[in-house]
Amino acid sequence: MTTEKYSLALHGGAGTITKGSLTAVKELAYLEALRAALGEGEKILKEGGSALDAVTSTVISLEDCPLFNAGKGAVFTAEGLHEMDAAVMRGDTLEAGAVAGVQHIRNPVLLAKTIMEKSEHVMLSGKGAEEFALKHGLPAEDLAYFHTEFRYLQLMDAQKDNSIRLDHTRGDEKKFGTVGAVARDRKGNLAAATSTGGMTNKRFMRIGDTPIIGAGTYANNTTCAVSCTGHGEFFIRGVVAYDISCLIEYKGLSLKEACHLVVLEKLVRLGGEGGLIAVDKSGEIVLVFNSEGMYRASVFEGKEPYVGIYE
Ligand code: ASP
Repeated sequence: MTTEKYSLALHGGAGTITKGSLTAVKELAYLEALRAALGEGEKILKEGGSALDAVTSTVISLEDCPLFNAGKGAVFTAEGLHEMDAAVMRGDTLEAGAVAGVQHIRNPVLLAKTIMEKSEHVMLSGKGAEEFALKHGLPAEDLAYFHTEFRYLQLMDAQKDNSIRLDHTRGDEKKFGTVGAVARDRKGNLAAATSTGGMTNKRFMRIGDTPIIGAGTYANNTTCAVSCTGHGEFFIRGVVAYDISCLIEYKGLSLKEACHLVVLEKLVRLGGEGGLIAVDKSGEIVLVFNSEGMYRASVFEGKEPYVGIYE
């Protein structure tokens, strides 16, 4: 019996996204891409599909869009390559799948889901992950597919001053373009998915918070589902996604109280910039960030979708 109403939220990264930093045309392109991705996931939930399928298909839509730092639009490493990370988790069984440092996989989130469903492991990385993807028939691309001019110029900028940068618009602006989704389906099951290219000019095989279960991605039917974006090292040290779940489970905080405490207080004290999206077992959604903006969208069954960029 389907008794619950569904909820879905997504992010396309947080950071220094101020009004005026985007041209009207670019702003429209982002809004359209966010709406389209939300529509992909909502279609599944509306037809009674699972939260897991909804978050996966939402993230695939964002991975295929060059505007975001995941899949097609992944940033460049110091060697001029792309190394992508992703994770999925389902809240009913606590099963999880994650992938780190893949270079040719078109949709790393699909690989994370396949690892969860078809292997005995939670995380595969590099060459082993790519071999597993090919064995299971997941689409692979050559390096040219991931080459976007904008990301290449970002790498050139970062190499000029030898800095390792989080995804940003050119110049000094910082932007974290990782993508993610969380959902609750009509059966009351929760799921989370996150996918990223990581940091521009990042060191060979650096891995951020995205594929680390409990840091950048977490889901548990008894509490909440969370997907993060921001300076990964701080999210790992803060065990951010699991911390939110724990504050609900052990301290009885509401989703909003837990998210605000972690993102607006604990992360700020650590020096970690970014944000997250979360949904709890009652379908409540929280979209929170301590940066200037976060590409985001959400929908509750029967309500008008929300799409936002700035504070
Ligand atoms: N959290 C990601 C990482 O550190 C970056 C991002 O959110 O854009 O790899």
